[in-house]
Amino acid sequence: MDEKPKIFIVEDEKQIARFLQIYLEKEGFQTAIEKNGKRAYERIIQEKYDLVLLDVMLPDMDGLEICRRVRELSDVPIIMLTARDDVKDKVDGLNIGANDYVTKPFASEEVLARIRGILRRRNEEPRKDEKRLIVGNVLLYPDRYEVQVNGELVELTHKEFELFQYLVENKPNVLTRDQILQRVWGYDFYGNTNVVDVYISYLRTKIDDKYDERHIHTVRGVGYVVRD
Ligand code: CA
Repeated sequence: MDEKPKIFIVEDEKQIARFLQIYLEKEGFQTAIEKNGKRAYERIIQEKYDLVLLDVMLPDMDGLEICRRVRELSDVPIIMLTARDDVKDKVDGLNIGANDYVTKPFASEEVLARIRGILRRRNEEPRKDEKRLIVGNVLLYPDRYEVQVNGELVELTHKEFELFQYLVENKPNVLTRDQILQRVWGYDFYGNTNVVDVYISYLRTKIDDKYDERHIHTVRGVGYVVRD
């Protein structure tokens, strides 16, 4: 499931391109190389990369032009590789939508740090307008049926998710077993309220115990509540 991020190295200097490729693959990335500006532009649009390292000086189309055109169609992260002291290229690059830049000659660690920084920020960003609910270190995305604890995806069954969402949406109110049963299992569920306790214990195992936190609390004689 954890697929390696794919980095597109657009660089016409063979040695630099190869050096970046070997280094980034050793660090756990997939890579592809392109040395021609025009082809690079086409490949960025057609293929799916997680990030582009984009040299400024390239044959057929320069990096700034590529960046400007790509931004009309895509928000793939772009790090410009600029010549040392070429302030204008850096400013232009950022103005037309590059996410960051690295000046040549660069240390491989610096490139890696920039790549990781951008990919991390990107993972943390919620999708635009997407609803999300927060309880302490837990994030819940109703639209994708996803729960993350400390940024890690937690696998929940459909019922577990619905139960957790109901509790989180009603935070800080205590919900009775009957309320939960009716809402999550429906009025026509002829079970026993024990099913609620059983599912609460599943959630605790997956969300609280595993991360050594306490979000799901029992209110004796009443029901359950979620707290930050
Ligand atoms: Ca170049």
